[in-house]
Amino acid sequence: MRTKTKWSPGPGVKILGVSLTDDDSWVVSAAGPAFGICPDCGRRTRNRHGWFNRSLQDLPVQGKTVTVKLRLSRWRCTHQKCRRQTFADRLPTIAYPYTRRTRRVAEIVGLLGHSAGGRAAERLMNRLGMPSQRRHNPAAPQASCGTQQAGLFPDCRY
Ligand SMILES: [Zn+2]
Repeated sequence: MRTKTKWSPGPGVKILGVSLTDDDSWVVSAAGPAFGICPDCGRRTRNRHGWFNRSLQDLPVQGKTVTVKLRLSRWRCTHQKCRRQTFADRLPTIAYPYTRRTRRVAEIVGLLGHSAGGRAAERLMNRLGMPSQRRHNPAAPQASCGTQQAGLFPDCRY
């Protein structure tokens, strides 16, 4: 069994627990730093404004996917001359803003995608325990009959 520090995606993240889910993947519960640093004035604050959760795909363990459920904070800057009122934890060393993968997974995805190509890289990523985020969605609209590509859909009746 790995120690809690081995599960950490990077500095500034405190691991709260690790569990194996029913679908045979690891879920790592973690929390961000105990204080925030204002990006405008650079002052530290412990005045928490709220919480938000971020789910990140991390490197696989024993061929199983790892999802880091990260609880981050929104902080209030209390410096009177600062024009920023609130700001959120960013953790730029762990993940880029608005992404669903850690930086180290994103780098591997980028390298494999560039060297092997789209579908081949996707199959390789699945085999390595890092499935792509794209999943089949049965609710997604299907191609309709009567388009220029109508001949490609044998189930369609014309
Ligand atoms: Zn500030």
